Amino acid sequence: MSEYIPTIGLEIHAELKTKTKMFCNSANDAEEKRPNVNICPVCMAHPGTLPVINKQAVLHVLRVGTALSGTLADFSEFDRKNYFYPDIPKGFQISQYKYPLVSGGKLNGVDITRVHLEEDTAKSFHFNGRSDTFLDFNRAGMPLMELVTEPVIKDSKQAADFAKELQLLLRYLGASEANMDKGQMRVEANISVSKDPNKFGTKVEVKNLNSFKSVARAIDYELKRQAEALDKGEVILQETRGFDENTGKTFAQRLKETSQDYRYFPEPDLPKLKLSEVPEFQNLKATMPELPWEKRKRLSEKFGLREEAVDLFVIDLVMSDFFEAVVKEHLNDKEFVSLTSNYITSDLASLVKAVSDEVELGYEKISIKPHDFEALMVMTQKGDVSSRGAKDILAVMFKEGGEPDIIAEVKGLIQKSNEDELKVMASEIIKENEKVAAEFKAGKEASLQFLVGQAMKKSKGSANPKLVAEVFRELLK
Ligand code: ADP
Ligand code: MG
Repeated sequence: MSEYIPTIGLEIHAELKTKTKMFCNSANDAEEKRPNVNICPVCMAHPGTLPVINKQAVLHVLRVGTALSGTLADFSEFDRKNYFYPDIPKGFQISQYKYPLVSGGKLNGVDITRVHLEEDTAKSFHFNGRSDTFLDFNRAGMPLMELVTEPVIKDSKQAADFAKELQLLLRYLGASEANMDKGQMRVEANISVSKDPNKFGTKVEVKNLNSFKSVARAIDYELKRQAEALDKGEVILQETRGFDENTGKTFAQRLKETSQDYRYFPEPDLPKLKLSEVPEFQNLKATMPELPWEKRKRLSEKFGLREEAVDLFVIDLVMSDFFEAVVKEHLNDKEFVSLTSNYITSDLASLVKAVSDEVELGYEKISIKPHDFEALMVMTQKGDVSSRGAKDILAVMFKEGGEPDIIAEVKGLIQKSNEDELKVMASEIIKENEKVAAEFKAGKEASLQFLVGQAMKKSKGSANPKLVAEVFRELLK
């Protein structure tokens, strides 16, 4: 299979966050569970109704385009994409064909072809044991962004990474929740293989990919299937295929329609858009928040964080804001910054994970004040508490809140750092363990561990082990 060159292009849809739908006043509420509640004659496709463009949706797409460094259209229009299906009773979907809002751009090194705006369809349901189809129009007419990449992606990992980065971008921009499992972001992968580097093979489009993992699995499966088919002398049909998560296989759904089949033409019920004349659409660069890749760069350069920590912080804005608030007075103290990053990404993360399966969102549940977390880190860095003690204190803070020094006091976790006190204790231990002490004096380094262990036992874990070791060295010089 290795002699085949894989080519992948993605088409990604995202439901945009707006108050109302794309062309009417019905609520755009992805959380609504009751069917057919957010509907009106426009999104139900009653004859004679007229659509009105949702400005917020247009703005979202233009801001995405700005973040991708694409070209924002000066002129744009909507088109009718004609086809028959029960979930689209108008007989057409309002989409964009010739004049997308955004052309070109780049994300994660992948060239973007275009980003345009369209309306979502109704959702159809089938219930076990019944042959009829049920339709929920809450989704019909929700604003949907479609991003199309050039056929430049080379493998499944690059495809999944691209989709992940787009999800992050949409969240940073507040354009979409982009949860794949909720269908808020839907990825379709166009896949082909060819032996000739100058000629693409016939592509197959794979739909129903509901997770990043499915995107990668479907691509790997399909690349292998196509190569094996070609090796057997078969031809690849240009078709749409589905993906079965249980078997990990793709399966034929229908032969691909071409754009002629849709008989696109400009939507006569909507005005043409002269985007350069709309004040809200100008200077969008100035409205950009810090973007994921900018944040990644800043976190690794400014804080010198490990890649894993950077990745976690870039995914979770609540957690990274927390981190930045904790370290803000310690920016020149590399040790403090890395200590804090470690405690947040490992200890705090596992506490969060234990109460929420969605780590990414779970940090909203943190009730610890950054100031208290900072105090705990200062105590830990100074050796006032052991790392074991710090973890215990953190667990209490996570559950009940409170200030770390008080918790440490109450739980007896303050490490004894009073040298005189430690000396008295160490002398006692030496007396009780004369043989071991002599061994250490004679050069047996391991014996020190034993003596420190005795001190920890005697102090019920409250001695500062580093300091105790120093005291023993001093006494047994
Ligand atoms: P269609 O008209 O069939 O929708 P497009 O040219 O619009 O085809 O491309 C749709 C998607 O398929 C794009 O993401 C594009 O990059 C990708 N694509 C086009 N040709 C190929 C190919 N030969 N192999 C893989 N992907 C392709
Ligand atoms: Mg297409």
